Amino acid sequence: METTTSTPAENPAAETVIELEKQYLIQNYARYPVVLHRGKGCVLYDTNGKKYLDLVSGLGVNALGHAHPRILKVLKQQAGLLIHCSNLYYHEYQGPLAKRLAEITGLERTFFCNSGTEAIEAGLKMIRAYGRSRRAEKHEIVSLEGSFHGRTLGSVSVTGQTKYRERFEPLLAGVKFVPRNDIGALEAAVNDNTAGIILEIIQGEGGVYLTDEAFVRRARELANRHDALLLFDEIQCGVGRTGKFCSYQLLDPIVLPDIVALAKPLACGLPLGAVVANGKAAAMLGKSMHGSTFGGGALACRVALEFLDILEELLPRIYQLSGYFKVELQELARHYLFIKEVRCYGLMIAVEMEIPAAMLVAEALENGLLINAVQEKTIRLLPPYVMTDQEVDRAIRLLEKVFRKGREYFVESGLADRLLQEKGGPA
Ligand SMILES: *Cc1c(COP(=O)(O)O)cnc(C)c1O
Repeated sequence: METTTSTPAENPAAETVIELEKQYLIQNYARYPVVLHRGKGCVLYDTNGKKYLDLVSGLGVNALGHAHPRILKVLKQQAGLLIHCSNLYYHEYQGPLAKRLAEITGLERTFFCNSGTEAIEAGLKMIRAYGRSRRAEKHEIVSLEGSFHGRTLGSVSVTGQTKYRERFEPLLAGVKFVPRNDIGALEAAVNDNTAGIILEIIQGEGGVYLTDEAFVRRARELANRHDALLLFDEIQCGVGRTGKFCSYQLLDPIVLPDIVALAKPLACGLPLGAVVANGKAAAMLGKSMHGSTFGGGALACRVALEFLDILEELLPRIYQLSGYFKVELQELARHYLFIKEVRCYGLMIAVEMEIPAAMLVAEALENGLLINAVQEKTIRLLPPYVMTDQEVDRAIRLLEKVFRKGREYFVESGLADRLLQEKGGPA
């Protein structure tokens, strides 16, 4: 059943939901006007029964799509046994999950929390405690411009985008931002007062940008030389998204951080974050120095274990799928002058354009395709790892429709003429 015309405004139930939220929710989200009801695989259905191909996957969370049979089975079973018991007691799944994470990351010990920002917070606490254990002045943190590490006061303090920071200043003291891939700036920023360096191998929220291997290696060397901890934020680029469990494992030889932050797809939609650390970083959080009531609950950990089993089988497919998507998308993009660049690292994909992204996101929604905007003129796709080639083909066909609309706008708005003139070509 595929209807393509109705909007929530024509559906009284959906309209009520939207009205209630407008009245009773703190208005911190700008939502698209659609009320989602259920999902199956890479497809979502709204309350009108309209179908959407999901290339947002809950912002990188629903890596196995929706209602994955193996996840459903484990969820049902564990929900009837034990959902949560607090961290006052042991349950059967934190230990095995931490062991798996140690094996997969090459690090040693894990602290479980409920989100990405909390994983960063735990990492920041380790960094601060580590610096302080050396000298009182050793508290500085070096981060990258354009980065995104979360919304809590600590993680926003190391996020290098003014729009997320400025209304909350003053933030954590001693944070320095350097441009991504500027090795000279990094060398100038790191000194003996540096307690930690934090970076994403592939910046996600910033617009899908790769941090050069040479820059990452230099960060590791500088952290060693100045006795600082290196933290990789793999919340978006990790957990399988590039076809490796962590994106630092794409580097040859790999560059091992002291701390890695994980979250998004880890428990397939249940809130679960993890910070995995080597011995010296892990030792910084002693008894009662940190904690979480919900973190590492039985249900979330059990689901994560199942997810990791599935992911292991899926990794080669992710690599293949990413290659296919990239070729198809680049071939499509070639025909549109308003597309500046396609960036594709694993299943992290951005299309940077000369026109506003919001317009294309709305057009895609209309056509039954979920995509989102990261920066003003960039759309981002975070496809589920379980897409079939046929679904990629369908996504490309839908994107073609959307891009045609984009081209109309590009021409009619006069942007096309302006661009041609700037480039010195014929108007
Ligand atoms: C999403 C994200 C976070 C924050 O995670 P939340 O679960 O939203 O708190 C941090 N870092 C990166 C790279 C992210 O993509």
